[in-house]
Amino acid sequence: MKIKKKEVEQRMKHFETVCRDEGIKLTHQRMEIFREVAHTGDHPDADLVFQRVRNRIPTVSLDTVYRTLWLLNDFGLVETLGSGRKRTRFDANLDSHHHFVCVKCGLTRDFYSNDLDNIKIPESVGSFGKIEATHVEVHGVCRECGEKGR
Ligand SMILES: [Zn+2]
Ligand SMILES: [Zn+2]
Repeated sequence: MKIKKKEVEQRMKHFETVCRDEGIKLTHQRMEIFREVAHTGDHPDADLVFQRVRNRIPTVSLDTVYRTLWLLNDFGLVETLGSGRKRTRFDANLDSHHHFVCVKCGLTRDFYSNDLDNIKIPESVGSFGKIEATHVEVHGVCRECGEKGR
């Protein structure tokens, strides 16, 4: 799933603005790492971002990719999915949205729903802590895996 060119440009522009405002140095590597998350819609983890960015910048290290992705996360430029730092995946779609996740291959796709955005969270959840956002994750078997299984 390719993100529309205009949307990617918007994300890049937002990225550059935030970097400038926050005093984050806009290095070529950081731009390419962000671009990698921004232009695919596939919620890559750090390893995948590293493999892809390395095609364009052979000198980039996995460590730099990790540190950059978490830096971007600290400044709200990407969001994360999944738990545990190692398998965390990164998402440059900052609009309120939800995910379809294939339980076989991990394919993750965005979808939008006003109903789910306004879903009522049980009050008991408040006892765990303060609620900041609600993401619904739908689990299933993607079309490709479904066809393979036939
Ligand atoms: Zn699948
Ligand atoms: Zn997403």
